[in-house]
This record gives sequence, structure tokens and C-alpha cells, in this order.
Amino acid sequence: MTSSNELFERARKLMPGGVNSPVRAFGSVGGTPRFMVDAHGAYLTDADGIRYVDLVCSWGPALLGHAHPGVLAAVHAAVDHGLSFGASTPDEGRLAELVMERVPGVERIRMVSTGTEATMTAVRLARGFTGRDLIVKFAGCYHGHLDSLLAAAGSGLATMAMPGSAGVTAATTAETLVLPYNDTAAVEAAFAKYGDRIAAVITEAAPANMGVVTPEEGFNAFLSRTTAANGALLILDEVLTGFRTGWAGYWGLTGAQEGWTPDLFTFGKVIGGGLPTAALGGRAEVMDYLAPIGPVYQAGTLSGNPVAMAAGVATLTLATPEVYAFIDRRSLELSAAVSAALDAEGVDHSIQRAGNLFSVAFGTSAAGVHNYAQAQAQEAFRYRPFFHSMLESGVYLPPSVFEAWFLSAAHDDEAMAKIHAALPAAARAAAAA
Ligand code: PMP
Repeated sequence: MTSSNELFERARKLMPGGVNSPVRAFGSVGGTPRFMVDAHGAYLTDADGIRYVDLVCSWGPALLGHAHPGVLAAVHAAVDHGLSFGASTPDEGRLAELVMERVPGVERIRMVSTGTEATMTAVRLARGFTGRDLIVKFAGCYHGHLDSLLAAAGSGLATMAMPGSAGVTAATTAETLVLPYNDTAAVEAAFAKYGDRIAAVITEAAPANMGVVTPEEGFNAFLSRTTAANGALLILDEVLTGFRTGWAGYWGLTGAQEGWTPDLFTFGKVIGGGLPTAALGGRAEVMDYLAPIGPVYQAGTLSGNPVAMAAGVATLTLATPEVYAFIDRRSLELSAAVSAALDAEGVDHSIQRAGNLFSVAFGTSAAGVHNYAQAQAQEAFRYRPFFHSMLESGVYLPPSVFEAWFLSAAHDDEAMAKIHAALPAAARAAAAA
């Protein structure tokens, strides 16, 4: 019996499903989750001493690679001054400035501890600012586990959503409209029917929680125009894409060129460099509705935590344009290799891409994947043997086909060679499924 097996058996008696976040339980790929004891560079090491090339990167934060010496030095220096002050600190301003330098649409920022808090606050703020109730979200977009956004699609266009989790009341999701992604007609219909009641549209800058789905050209710009024309706000959720898909996130690849800016952004993951920090930011006029100067309440005991701020400042300082160019190249190289391996075994698939994020969707080459219904209709069963073959070969992929693959600045030639070597057997396993 492996150490991971023993640890999982113990954990299952201690925590629901043995985990503190559901996907970690390997529910959709089966088998025993690996318990990790070390993360350095491009590698994770499990409790049995097995090393894996990591393509999860802590679900995004490890942009520079795990335990980057520059980030660790900043964290060590911060820790020496104490762990939490419960008062304002100089580094909060430094991190705020680093964000604003990259994303000028962030005129004010509020630091929080998780992406969920960032989107929850953005939704409350949009309602407080507009005095309206309804929120539009897209099916398949994940914004954290706040009640109002844990909603699955209702039937038909612009119907009120049904709760997507037990414990979420129908009354809560009745104020959420769930629309099909990339569907401008559905958005127009929703605004035609409920335009004066919609406080905000929230969207992932590029969806990466139903696998990666590329926003069709001009879709986010259309959302920006439509919300503005109707007195609603656009909340661009960059918790996953922010400071990862490029210097200025996915907005930097799209809005910066196309000339639109959302009213509010949400950030997480990379902004904290691996420690629990997230943020919301945007137009000063909207952000100043937050307490203590505005009527919308929000607070946090550990918000702007000095150790997390130090990790964030170090990470954004070290994430130079060259880092992004390197990860972009690695992403193209890896996705081409995955595609070639699958083609060699005759496995139908499409590579779903948004900047340097990508995922593989099986059996989808004809129609592609442009929305949640198409993502769900893929041959997801091929991922399980693919995943386990890669794991056996020492490559740690996201344990679900509906997650993006993450690379880092530490994915050097040696790490890439290990992935390349693992692909043919995994493609054979996917073909045999
Ligand atoms: N928004 C997006 C786009 C996300 O991907 C996530 C988490 N994966 C969240 C919000 C929630 O962030 P957290 O897990 O830090 O609460």
C-alpha cells in the first residue's frame, strides 16, 4: 500500500471525501489522489517520493514555477516581521500599483483572500451601485462558490436559473439569469426582456472551467457595449486568466486592443503568488461604493495579509514580458505535441485555446467547443485512461477534462522532454477507451 493510499484512507475519515476542495478527490478520473509533500520548479513530489512534472501549477498561481527563490526570499523577509497585523501595510499599496500599471482600468482595488470573495463582492457592489437585482452569467463559467452564481442553466433562453447545488435557495438563483456562452442573441434577448433590472453581466475573461472555451472574436466587446447601453455593469472575472494569459491578463490580449474596459475586474491565483490573495478592482466611481466610504459592506480579517502581499509583489515583479513569451511558446509546443500524439492514434479531438491556456476536448473536431453544451457532449471518458497513463509516466495533469492545463516559467527542456515521452502511451490509452 502506498503512502498516498494510507493518507487518503485516513483523510476520508476526517474530511468530506478526504479533501478540502472537491476536484482534488480524483472523482472524475478515479483512483487514489496523490498526496503531495513538495513543490519546486516544474515538479511536484508525492508522499511516496514520486516526482511528477506538474501541469496544474496549483490551478494557476505558480506562474514562475513552484518555490521560485525570489518569491521565497520575499516571503521569508515578510515572515520575519510577523504574520498578520490586522492593519494597513506598505506592500498593499505596492501590489495595487503593480496591478494598475498593467491594467489601467483598475482605478481602485480591494484585496480579499479568495477568488470567491472577489466575485461575491463584485456582484454585491454591482447591485449596490446600480440599485438593480438581476445578474447575468454564462452556463459553464465558474466564478467561485457564492450562492447566486452556483446556478445551472434553466430551460430556454433567459429563463430564471435553477440552483446548481443543494443548499442554494431557488429565491437566490431566481435573481440570476444563465445564458449560453458565446451567444449574442441570448444576451440581446435577456436585455430586451429584463434590461432595466440587470445589475451586471459577469463572465470569465476566457472560460477555463468547462475546459477552455475561446470567446468568439468581439464577444467580450459586445458584452461591454451592451451592458453600458443598458446601465448595467460588466464584471470581467480574471481570477484564472489575470496575470497568467499575459502581462495584463486576457483583457490585455483583447480589450486593450479593441478599446473596451470592464467596469469591474476580479483577480486571484497569480496575484497572490501561491498565498491566499485575490482582489476586485475597476472604475473609481463604482469601487468607491465600498465601505468605509460607500454603502456596500465588505471586510476581511486577513485581507491584505503582509506575507501574501509580499508574495504577490515579488511574483508580479518577477513576471516580466519574457516570462509570458516563454510560457506562450511552451504552450504552443505542448499543445502541438498532444495533438500530434492523439492524431497518431486516430483520436478525434480539438485543442481549446485562450492565450497560453489550453485544454483537450475529445471527439469534438467537427463542431468545436463554443459553449457548455458542446463541452459536456464531448467523449469525456477518453480522459480517464489518458490522465492515468500520464500519471504513471510521471506527469500530473488536471484530474478533470473540464480544467485547463497550466504551464510555468520553470517548465524547462527536461520537464518538457518528460511530458513528450509520456504522450504516445497516453494517446494509445485514450484510443482504446
Ligand atoms: N473565478 C474563476 C474564473 C475561477 O477559475 C475560480 C477558481 N478556480 C474562482 C473564481 C474562485 O476562486 P477561489 O477558488 O480562489 O475562490
